Amino acid sequence: MKTVEQHIRDVLDLVEPLEPIELDLLRAHGGVLAEAVSSAVSLPQFDNSSMDGYAVAADDLAGASAQEPVRLPVVADIPAGDVAATAVRRGHCARIMTGAPLPRGADAVVPVEWTDGGLATVAVDRPVQPGNAIRRVGEDVEKGTTVLRPGVRLGAGELAVAAAVGRGTVPVHPRPRVVVLSTGAELVEPGSAIGPGQIWESNSYMLTAAALDAGCSAVRRGFVGDDPATVLETVEDVLVQADIVLTTGGVSMGVYDVVKEVLSRLGTVSFDKVAMQPGMPQGAGTVGESATPILTLPGNPVSSYVSFQLFVRPVLRRLRGLAPDPLPAVHARLTAPVPHSPKGRRSYLRAVLEYDGSAGPTPYTAQPATRQGSHQLSALAEANALVVVPEAVTELEEGSVVEVLRLPEAF
Ligand code: AMP
Ligand code: MG
Repeated sequence: MKTVEQHIRDVLDLVEPLEPIELDLLRAHGGVLAEAVSSAVSLPQFDNSSMDGYAVAADDLAGASAQEPVRLPVVADIPAGDVAATAVRRGHCARIMTGAPLPRGADAVVPVEWTDGGLATVAVDRPVQPGNAIRRVGEDVEKGTTVLRPGVRLGAGELAVAAAVGRGTVPVHPRPRVVVLSTGAELVEPGSAIGPGQIWESNSYMLTAAALDAGCSAVRRGFVGDDPATVLETVEDVLVQADIVLTTGGVSMGVYDVVKEVLSRLGTVSFDKVAMQPGMPQGAGTVGESATPILTLPGNPVSSYVSFQLFVRPVLRRLRGLAPDPLPAVHARLTAPVPHSPKGRRSYLRAVLEYDGSAGPTPYTAQPATRQGSHQLSALAEANALVVVPEAVTELEEGSVVEVLRLPEAF
């Protein structure tokens, strides 16, 4: 059997970051920057006032006090956006607003709060330091410097900087197009009537949602039965709209394990047993002339979900241009024993992770779900974490400190 780490390396080898495209800022939101953004200009581009007040020559106010305010004639009114290139002579001043260009001849701004707010002349009741309330050219960004490095995710702050240096578009790795296809003759569309031996299909909803949560643009192709020709046709059909294809079901040892049967024949997808529980049967490779990556996940819903979090998620991250980091891990104390874990396979138990802030080895507790079967979906909905039980460990006492992987929240 293959180790979890080996399978992670193998699936990561199938992909590279998607070719960057130039996107408008809001379309780039949440994307990963592909090239550095540097500023062609200094920010601020011109000296300007950081307050509403009066632009003055500081020397003119040397003797100002509350008892003897200095009075200066107001020669101009300078709003933000003013293009008039105003100048003030010694002994004069201009009313100025926040963000407005500093007039020639002025070397300080007096906040309106230090004055009587006069319009024709203004009385100032204290001296001012040269440079007061002035935002200088380049004090935010120096011309030519890098403001955003490749690999950053473009959130609010990043988009603000890009816009502020004048960029209308930025090069980002596009959102990976993920197509999700399930297989199984027993599957029925939720919302419609069900017959004996049938089940409502859930994996493709789960995986499509998980791919959306992982920042992808995911499409649910739905499900097909266990007919080999139909499965192959459908896989080939979705290749043009996919950067990666995910399938579920049909990869274990059953007689009707159609995904394995059909894709094995192509010779570009290999099927392995990975030393884990749930999720042992895994397939990965490429299909079609486009060599589109495909990961074939097991059909049991919990296996499929855990496989997504362990294997698919890092692959999607790499496609997006992010580091293929695993789920974030913390240590936690078990609030219940784990009576059995298979020797030689790593278990991932659905659990509720909580912060209780207690002193000691860790401030977190983990409550393993009581229903750990790979078909038992009820525990999945409640879980926010996976307890990791190493290959060599077969049981754990209550209170044991274990590694716990945090599951992603909905986007
Ligand atoms: P398979 O891997 O196809 O043998 O499926 C293993 C188990 O998972 C069976 O009990 C299937 O009925 C179930 N299963 C397979 N695919 C799905 C699906 N898309 N949604 C819900 N359950 C599924
Ligand atoms: Mg099946």
